Amino acid sequence: MGKVNKDDILDMLEKYDKEDITIATLGSHTALHILRGAKQEGFRTAVVCEKGREVPYERFGVADEFIFVDEFKDIVNEDVQEQLRNMNAIVVPHGSFVAYAGLSNVEDKFNVPMFGNRDILRWEAERDKERKMITDAGIRMPYKFDKPEDIDRTVMVKFPGARGGLGYFVAGSFDEYNQKIDEMKERGWINDDDAKQAHIEEYVCGCNYCIHYFYSALNDEVELLGMDSRFESSIDGICRIPAKDQMELNMSPSYVISGNHPVVIRESLLGQVFANGDKLVEAAKKLVKPGMNGPFCLQCLCNDDLELVVFEMSARIDGGTNSFMNGSPYTFVKFEEEMSAGRRISREIKNAIKSDRLGVIIT
Ligand code: AMP
Repeated sequence: MGKVNKDDILDMLEKYDKEDITIATLGSHTALHILRGAKQEGFRTAVVCEKGREVPYERFGVADEFIFVDEFKDIVNEDVQEQLRNMNAIVVPHGSFVAYAGLSNVEDKFNVPMFGNRDILRWEAERDKERKMITDAGIRMPYKFDKPEDIDRTVMVKFPGARGGLGYFVAGSFDEYNQKIDEMKERGWINDDDAKQAHIEEYVCGCNYCIHYFYSALNDEVELLGMDSRFESSIDGICRIPAKDQMELNMSPSYVISGNHPVVIRESLLGQVFANGDKLVEAAKKLVKPGMNGPFCLQCLCNDDLELVVFEMSARIDGGTNSFMNGSPYTFVKFEEEMSAGRRISREIKNAIKSDRLGVIIT
């Protein structure tokens, strides 16, 4: 099956009533502030909801329309797409949308106008592509080891799949690596296939800053929207146990994100923060036209040289933006009004409608 054709999407947009646009998303991840932000900007809103998971969208009153599906992945079903097009919907993609709908379905089958650059989603999903974009940008990433035999320092070992950091482990040598792989298999956290696909990278000892940017393709400007840091189970719990007890308990930590808290970074590091955002946007323009287009996130560890090392990126709205639904210290300085990442998306759509440039930001 061929890819969704951008010209077909532009034709659909052409037929849309621009006075009656609906901002729609899948009911999960960052839907609350995507929809609230859309309402703040004067749009009608719709949520595609798995039956039984509608409670937050009803209780917070963010959705004007509900489209119920048996399973999230049914958002790509033709009848759901038609309902969306009939309400002049622009769909905002987020991490769960891509994970549940399936990347290939979003690329090949989802014939509904979407905010951002559809083609960039694959660049965050595939580790090699992600690494190419970040390193092409000239941004420092943790050193990657091609073979476990080469381990010569403390490393972080990661596995594929949408299970977050479950089964990730830290090792200091090839022997320890083998021993922990066996342990993870015994626990059922990984299987043989996962073990073959293990990704091994330098362990960066530092503090976590997940930095949320917005690239306005309309203004050709990178904005800093906010920052969060993560609560991770069970590593954060283990860190609360005294070292001597940790040794006795012999626990294997995991790095599963269970929540986020807002943070700010030292003001003197903001130059580096903006430089990284600018560099990534330039690299993205070259690698996957038209480039970043909308919200993105660089997940960083700041080491004691005060260097931001990027271990992952999101090329769409990141879950950590939930930590500033009513705005962050940075959006306060920039906009002097409540500005969530969700609202910023709708503001961009509104500006594009006003200036008749929707084609620049829709894919
Ligand atoms: P990820 O799935 O890549 O987002 O990683 C989950 C968590 O593992 C991160 O939030 C960090 O706490 C930790 N982590 C990931 N990569 C590294 C690394 N290279 N060095 C140290 N910690 C890491």
